[in-house]
Amino acid sequence: MDTIVAVATPAGRSAIGVIRLSGPHSLDIIRALARDEQFAPGPNTVVLKKLVSNSGEPLDYALVSYFRGPHSFTGEDMVEISCHGSPVILRALLDLTQSFNARLAGPGEFTLRACKNGKLNLSQAEAVRDLINAQTDAAAVQAARQLRGELSRALQPCKQKLIQIIVRLESALEFVEDDLPQIEVEKIKAQISEVMTRVQELAGTYSTGHLLRDGLKVAIVGRPNVGKSSLFNRLLRLDRAIVTDIAGTTRDSITESVSLRGIPISLIDTAGIRRAGDKIEEMGVERTHRAMADADLLLVVLDGSTQLLTEDFAVLSQATKARRLVVVNKCDLTIAPGLKDQISSLSPVVHFSALTAEGLENLITGILAPFGTVDSERVGLLVTDSRHYDLLLRTQASLEDSLNGMVEGASEELVLVGLHNALRFLGEITGETTTEDILSEIFSTFCVGK
Ligand code: GDP
Repeated sequence: MDTIVAVATPAGRSAIGVIRLSGPHSLDIIRALARDEQFAPGPNTVVLKKLVSNSGEPLDYALVSYFRGPHSFTGEDMVEISCHGSPVILRALLDLTQSFNARLAGPGEFTLRACKNGKLNLSQAEAVRDLINAQTDAAAVQAARQLRGELSRALQPCKQKLIQIIVRLESALEFVEDDLPQIEVEKIKAQISEVMTRVQELAGTYSTGHLLRDGLKVAIVGRPNVGKSSLFNRLLRLDRAIVTDIAGTTRDSITESVSLRGIPISLIDTAGIRRAGDKIEEMGVERTHRAMADADLLLVVLDGSTQLLTEDFAVLSQATKARRLVVVNKCDLTIAPGLKDQISSLSPVVHFSALTAEGLENLITGILAPFGTVDSERVGLLVTDSRHYDLLLRTQASLEDSLNGMVEGASEELVLVGLHNALRFLGEITGETTTEDILSEIFSTFCVGK
């Protein structure tokens, strides 16, 4: 096994930057960096060391922590170097470790090693990724629960029961000439149904879990001057402190993320992409259409102080298919005569003022309503990962096959195939039967260790 290295802290300048090493040469490499052959730190201790460049110049003074395998995150010998967070120093140290035989780690490779060495199961490893990527407190809480192994524990009784049923059926196949007595068949059917109900319950939490983890894309659409940008800013101002730019977009981006009652929302202001001039206008319209197609919800903004114009009707007709919420803005002004009739057939509708924030709570309730409400403090264990959800659905389908196979005269082998498949799918959630391929696919989505 080779020794891997990576910067563990985000790119850019910071007070402290951390470099991690994992593998059999970790200690040798830190000795070389410190030019101290005798350096023998005790495990789980922190020692201040001078680190030296190739030419013998001091590079930095760093706190060095040593974790002796198997009592480390990866299960291997590990060294963590906490130096000053200068990109130049981090780069120099990274280069030096590589000249001393370390290899740059791939995405998630530290966690992959932890998994392979039995320090984490697969769903816990995925939880590490989700914890790092969590966009809201509620999402972090769910990831932490999974990291503690709650999902694996929740599945344990189901797996246990399936094993019992399989053993019973297999022994019946081997030793009993006649079919199983009907009373026993009924008992096994009831047991399978019980497992199925539990699996179904867990799979049913995905709609909420997915929402907490991945959030919603909400696009604000409407003709110019109805108040789209004002509404956008009003929602963002709600929790400005945790608003961040979406990765990959620039400062003048029209997409921002905001947390509404614990749900991460990616808010798209389609007004920002409209500019005067034919060509650019055309591109703006095309981008608006794309944003509309991508969104989970459209906020169709109307100006409550004027009657609807042709352009409003055009936006409304484009937005009929999607999930939408009609926002009648500027409710601080007198409602235009005739507007009530014009909007009477539209639903759902909220009245709002981006200027005074009147109706803000109703607006937020309206945005979240189609997706069910989440009491993020009180929810139990939720399935947040699409891979887990998919495997639960497959488990359910296999159990259904088994139940269908338990009609009179059918062969036990067919029933057993379904049960074995169900057991395998449940095992895959925690990574007991995963292949190298599944592992590397999952770990390639990690952002750590890059
Ligand atoms: P957009 O073109 O749809 O993005 O509209 P803007 O957000 O730029 O708003 C257009 C105009 O309407 C601006 O002068 C805003 O100050 C005004 N406006 C927006 N929302 C309200 C509101 O709730 N009440 C009032 N009275 N004016 C508003």
